[in-house]
Amino acid sequence: MIIVLKAGASEADIEDVSRRVRDLGFKTHLSRGEERTIIGVVGDDRAKEQLLALQALESVENVVRILQPFKLASREAHPESTQFRIHGVPIGGKQLVVMAGPCSVESRPQLLAVAEGVKAGGAHVLRGGAFKPRTSPYAFQGLEEEGLKLLHEASKATGLPVVTEVMEPDKVDVVAEHADILQVGARNIQNFSLLKRVAECGKPVLLKRGMSSSIQEWLLSAEYVLAGGNPNVILCERGIRTFETSTRFTLDLNAIPVVKKLSHLPVLVDPSHGTGHWEYVSAMAKAGLAAGADGLIIEVHNNPAEALSDGPQSLKPDKFGKLMSELRPLAEVLGRSL
Ligand code: PEP
Ligand code: MN
Repeated sequence: MIIVLKAGASEADIEDVSRRVRDLGFKTHLSRGEERTIIGVVGDDRAKEQLLALQALESVENVVRILQPFKLASREAHPESTQFRIHGVPIGGKQLVVMAGPCSVESRPQLLAVAEGVKAGGAHVLRGGAFKPRTSPYAFQGLEEEGLKLLHEASKATGLPVVTEVMEPDKVDVVAEHADILQVGARNIQNFSLLKRVAECGKPVLLKRGMSSSIQEWLLSAEYVLAGGNPNVILCERGIRTFETSTRFTLDLNAIPVVKKLSHLPVLVDPSHGTGHWEYVSAMAKAGLAAGADGLIIEVHNNPAEALSDGPQSLKPDKFGKLMSELRPLAEVLGRSL
């Protein structure tokens, strides 16, 4: 349910209605728009008659049921797009964000070289996997905590905040200690105990779409994080499984306008995993922004031929720099900036 307050409702009104809602045993999530404040209410639906009765209050315009199964993630509960900053990097506003770096952190020289390369190209956030979800148990599994330390060092050296994947609830604290954004990977977005833990970590969460997740399932995963008290969720479309084998996955660009309509959360596009081939990354990065994404996450490696994971889809730093210079005028045409 949402409680729409009248335009001009005072702070005391907001607190009064919120307290009444909490007294009924519900949790409240405030959305302050330019014109109106909306109180998102989640909890046991059985007391909804009492909630509806709050419509009688002077400060309340309306009490409305949210039709979507995801509530806090829905635009009904939060009509304005979510915007926040990560160490000064704006997410979800007019300014686009580009996160770039290697698939895996492999060594100190590799990470520092790529971090400097993406920084020179204009990336805003450094990516790099320390805990790697590999299909084969024989594939490189990541440097784990050593990788986190290297990411921290690269972040200090470049000034770029860091996004890295966390795969297990027990590792959330250590990852949150070293990283600025916690990534939940495509293979883990229905790991509900992980979602509940990242909801409590105090850091923004990058939630990739599962390769077989519907948009509704993806938004329900986001709902776990929001309902757990973490409002800073970034969605990422990274390709889904289809019958097509020419590319690694099929980047579902339809999802961008659909999610933008259904939800207020920022959405990124990952053209690296979405295509699986570096030659297609540039085209799909541009297409992603044209479709309305708030930014990109791109894999970059200084020596893709010898990368320990995802070399075939990784751009070299010079190609990344060229792509960024092509994206700047595109951003302007789209009414955004980069
Ligand atoms: C990654 O970002 O390297 C990764 C494993 O992504 P995904 O979860 O989308 O496959
Ligand atoms: Mn990868």
